Amino acid sequence: HVFCKHLPKIELHAHLNGSIRETTLVQLASERSVTLPATLLQHEAEHHDPDSEALFNTKPRSLEECFEIFAYIPRCVNDIVALKRITVEILEDFANDNVAYVELRTGPKVLLVDHTSGEQYCTKKQYVETVLDIMSSFEGKERKRYERELHNSKDRNLVRLPLVPRLLMSVDRSGTLDQAEENINLAIDMAKTHPHIVGVELGGNPTRNDFRFFEPLFQKARDHGLKVSIHFGEVPTARNDSDSSDPILKAAYDEAIAVLNFRPDRLGHALLLPHVLMEKLMRKPIPIECCPTSNVMTLELALHYGGNLVNGMKKHPQLGKWKSRRYPFSINTDDSGIFCTNLTKEFLVIATAFDLSKDDLVDILIQSVDHIFDGTEVFREKLKTLIMGRVDEL
Ligand code: IMP
Repeated sequence: HVFCKHLPKIELHAHLNGSIRETTLVQLASERSVTLPATLLQHEAEHHDPDSEALFNTKPRSLEECFEIFAYIPRCVNDIVALKRITVEILEDFANDNVAYVELRTGPKVLLVDHTSGEQYCTKKQYVETVLDIMSSFEGKERKRYERELHNSKDRNLVRLPLVPRLLMSVDRSGTLDQAEENINLAIDMAKTHPHIVGVELGGNPTRNDFRFFEPLFQKARDHGLKVSIHFGEVPTARNDSDSSDPILKAAYDEAIAVLNFRPDRLGHALLLPHVLMEKLMRKPIPIECCPTSNVMTLELALHYGGNLVNGMKKHPQLGKWKSRRYPFSINTDDSGIFCTNLTKEFLVIATAFDLSKDDLVDILIQSVDHIFDGTEVFREKLKTLIMGRVDEL
């Protein structure tokens, strides 16, 4: 636990609203008279310690249940005041967990300016500006803190690395094409003056709609220099091209082929892959954003294995294979608030389930630096050097 905690980590798949602290969600709900179903909360007792090593997620979360919870969050994060609060807290949580680089993703929303003063709304652009402002000032403070501590420390490798935050603009696949277009155009437009915006992504309820519906928009984003990540393999597909007995599975298979042919810069989850798709990926890999706890929860593996996350993790359909075949993947939290996790716990749980050594964990981490959407080779190499410097001290 101490090693995983102090290891400088990087996070590439974290949904802003899904990363809300549960205690904050409860408080915002009460201020806004929203009744949260108690069964959806991880810890009815409000004082859990997110760092506690004993506290792996014990509450099963089916995919369906997750989307039920997601529907409550915008009712609580319904004004700019709440958006500011959760963004600051989420960045604090990542920094305190020794995360050195985070890409947060969010779908811009029209929010109230302040829920207490009624009907004044801010635009999607103001939503994004709010998040970007907080990221910029957080990054500035972190850099200053790092320089100050370096100055006061005898050994630079003892100092916690500064957190570098970046933003991906989300498209919700259960929304309309017009909404998607608005978000993509906003990302393209704002990225011209905001270097924190590094990409776009497709997420939301995987049973709704189809990547091909949105594909021209993602092509447009790519043509404007933005990187693209697509949620992938969250629902079962047909086994291959000629397996057409079930039209839903066949449609999911065809969609998966379309995603792979588009060749996004990264894939989210890539969990339920028939042999044919896995082999297609093996021949020409696309880095995968693995979210271990989220995967085990949404597949209900922990539920089937006695509510024990480590036992559920051992049944992860892909992680063991990716590791042994040296497939490029990163380790991420997805929705730390919903799944009661952080990156320390994610590294710890995979190390325990797959019997990984410290070197194995460092290997996974260092290779995932190559998957980050921001910056140049120089930036990535510098980050690797800083991480390795810290690792030598652990
Ligand atoms: P937001 O974009 O900041 O509002 O983040 C929350 C949203 O992320 C949810 O409402 C979902 O649409 C999406 N999301 C979170 N986790 C997942 C996932 O595992 N699969 C697909 N979409 C997800």
